[in-house]
Amino acid sequence: MGKEKMAGWGFSDSGIFLAGGPCSAESEEQVLTTASALAGNGVDFLRAGIWKPRTRPGSFEGVGLKGLAWLQTARAETGLKIGTEVAEPSHVEACLEAGLDILWVGARTTTNPFSVQAIADALKGTEIPVLVKNPMNADVGLWIGAIERLANAGLTKLGAIHRGVSSSLEMRYRNAPTWKMPIELMRLMPEIPILCDPSHICGKAELISTIAQEAMDLLFDGLMVEVHPDPPHALSDAAQQLTPAVFLSMIEELKISQEQSDSLPFGKQMSALRDGVDEIDSQLLELISGRMKLVRKMGHLKSRQKVSTLQPHRWQAILEDRVRKGTGLNLSEDFVLQLMQSVHEEAIRQQESDRLNEM
Ligand code: PEP
Ligand code: MN
Repeated sequence: MGKEKMAGWGFSDSGIFLAGGPCSAESEEQVLTTASALAGNGVDFLRAGIWKPRTRPGSFEGVGLKGLAWLQTARAETGLKIGTEVAEPSHVEACLEAGLDILWVGARTTTNPFSVQAIADALKGTEIPVLVKNPMNADVGLWIGAIERLANAGLTKLGAIHRGVSSSLEMRYRNAPTWKMPIELMRLMPEIPILCDPSHICGKAELISTIAQEAMDLLFDGLMVEVHPDPPHALSDAAQQLTPAVFLSMIEELKISQEQSDSLPFGKQMSALRDGVDEIDSQLLELISGRMKLVRKMGHLKSRQKVSTLQPHRWQAILEDRVRKGTGLNLSEDFVLQLMQSVHEEAIRQQESDRLNEM
């Protein structure tokens, strides 16, 4: 974690990779005020949206090209590097012309391979660093595909940004954090640096520091945070923007984790605990396999009696019982539900595969 994976990108090599700045560039004064508050404080680039993808028409859709000139002025006055979101080839051309230091592809764009390909084609032959936000839905393949399209266009300075996943079922966060998705990206593309955007995950300023800290504990390489000099009057995403002072003190207080420690006592204790975990995992798998043997016997009985594989009433009763027992054992309801759903899916798969073989 840190900046090892960004060597050669042209940014400082100390600390985590940090982007801060308003959701949208709104006026030259707002951009300059933010930039001068952030410069010299370990921020790697000033972020500001120029073209804003909004859910409903009629919302503020960004200031367009003139915002690029404000960003250039901010860089000239403060030395901060500058970056913005590109969603189509005309944006890429304008940003290359304006000499931006870094670009990112937004979540809505990543969702659409045609758009990503058009952006990749427009970037061919350049060396500019590009960060790719995860798509709106929890599809790690689509995220990887977007990064691959840019890599195939010859870009080598590529990173990812985790900004959570849109879901009408999510209550607490604006976009559910779904950490398993970026963790899977880290596993499949270990060379790609990954930032967390806690602003779009949280949707509310007061939740941001917890998610930012969680990202550090999960070995993210940096953060992109929305920072505005006057959040309540922001023209977009007002509820989730931090003032520069709040942002800088949050960064100051972050505890940065390393993947390993040289401490011998730590290593000894961890390895004893890991042996315990390995043993329990083996038992878990054996227990589940034993459960599946019973499930298959039931499958044969059902099949002979022409009874359906799915037993909705029994399934409902199992869920209620296991959630009650699991929550009594300090497991979250969500976890027990997901675990039992996976077990049930495998049980159905095994019963159905036997049934089809018997036919
Ligand atoms: C943004 O960064 O301002 C933005 C629009 O984010 P996302 O693409 O994650 O919605
Ligand atoms: Mn925003």
